[in-house]
Amino acid sequence: MLYTSTRDKSVHVSAAQAIARGISADGGLYVPEEIPGISKEFLQELSALNYISRAKKILSLYLTDFTPEEIDFCVNGAYAPGKFSSEKVSPLHTIADGAHVLELWRGPTCAFKDMALQLLPYLLTTAAKKTVADKTIVILVATSGDTGKAALAGFCDVPGTKIMVFYPNDGVSPMQKLQMTTQEGDNVCVCAINGNFDDAQNGVKAIFTDPDVAKKLDAHGMMFSSANSINWGRLVPQIVYYISAYCDLIADGTIKNGDEINIVVPTGNFGNILAAYYARMMGVPVKTLLCASNANNVLTEFLTDGVYDRNRPFYTTTSPSMDILISSNLERLLFHLAGDDDTRVRDWMAQLKETGRYTVEEDILTKLHAQFAAGCCDDTATKATIAKTWRDGYLCDTHTAVAVNVYEAYTAKTGDKTPTVIASTANPYKFSKAVLEAVTGKEPNDLNEFEQVDRLIEVTGVPCPPQLATLKEKTPRFTDCCNRADMAQKVYDMLGI
Ligand SMILES: *Cc1c(COP(=O)(O)O)cnc(C)c1O
Repeated sequence: MLYTSTRDKSVHVSAAQAIARGISADGGLYVPEEIPGISKEFLQELSALNYISRAKKILSLYLTDFTPEEIDFCVNGAYAPGKFSSEKVSPLHTIADGAHVLELWRGPTCAFKDMALQLLPYLLTTAAKKTVADKTIVILVATSGDTGKAALAGFCDVPGTKIMVFYPNDGVSPMQKLQMTTQEGDNVCVCAINGNFDDAQNGVKAIFTDPDVAKKLDAHGMMFSSANSINWGRLVPQIVYYISAYCDLIADGTIKNGDEINIVVPTGNFGNILAAYYARMMGVPVKTLLCASNANNVLTEFLTDGVYDRNRPFYTTTSPSMDILISSNLERLLFHLAGDDDTRVRDWMAQLKETGRYTVEEDILTKLHAQFAAGCCDDTATKATIAKTWRDGYLCDTHTAVAVNVYEAYTAKTGDKTPTVIASTANPYKFSKAVLEAVTGKEPNDLNEFEQVDRLIEVTGVPCPPQLATLKEKTPRFTDCCNRADMAQKVYDMLGI
């Protein structure tokens, strides 16, 4: 199977090349040229297997230039017993009749990014061996919070790699910040920037596509790659857990093989929901993909009216990993919906760059409406949903609460009773302040981050994952903050070039 670029269909690269390069030289994203189909029999077969075995079978459909031994090595390493706090890796938890929360945060950093970022270093170093041999891979990450830590944890001390993470100084939770600034390892570096996530992401993209920077790295035997969700190696592991969730529902008798499900995803960069879209295209019977946003509801408007307009106020919310106005992975969806028309994608992306907005035509909007629904909610509604969900017996984080809120509004409006998988993307203790406030109805302003954790344990009896609880004993290693204009220099400093 080959991959092409969303902005230039004359590009044809292997999976290894797509993963090693991260982004296409034309600024487009790599997409599979064909989507592998899966049959009902295949789903039946998978439903008898464990997560690791399912992952191997699904990945081998996309990574056709990886040998079976390589795929075994990658998957066995990423999801080794003990790395995730559930032997199912991403277990389902039923919160109401027909509503099943898919817990994607059982990994080392307690956010769903671990699902992909535990595997990506294996995929990337395997891919690099096939394509660029002896080069040092330099990973640059722009993060709204969770990607940064998950990437640092995944790449920490991986031979042949260096990783540098930029995060918006005031756009991440104290817990997220501490998780990153205390990261151990000899090949890691973390830097705050003055600005929001889009500034960080645009800064990283600019460095990536700057030919002078590339030349300088090349002269030192290095090359960039990306651990952001624009890298195909991030997306493909995410397809696995949606297929796996469907198989779990078959295996435990909740649905019959062939029954339709809906999937709700709290969305920022459009990566996680795009993975569900791929699962749907492959043949998993998904009726509706419900895209849930916070007050930064650029995607709600797009999926409803076909108008993508980033010229709007940017809100810092209690679900910071979704505080995004440019959802990079949407470009892949547009490419597929436009029937692989790279000219149209180039045109929309040029408009986005120049004017901050574009409008898709009726044909695209019709296809969007046939597969997607969308909704959003603000912080007040998020809090109310955390409180209600907790009264019903389940403690969820702010991002998951946005999804639950949008799901409830959707079912109330449509009467749609289809069994639903709700992606739960973070452990509630990553966002203790907002969760505690929601559960107790009081602002915990007099408590510091770790007192809030203790109080939340006291009030709910839900245990805090040890990797978060022990952060309070650690001292930050990385305290730098820079302007967007200085990011390239920071990268040179870190690499010593
Ligand atoms: C990254 C993240 C999201 C958004 O995922 P996208 O793939 O960017 O849409 C949602 N919730 C949490 C907790 C996250 O870390």
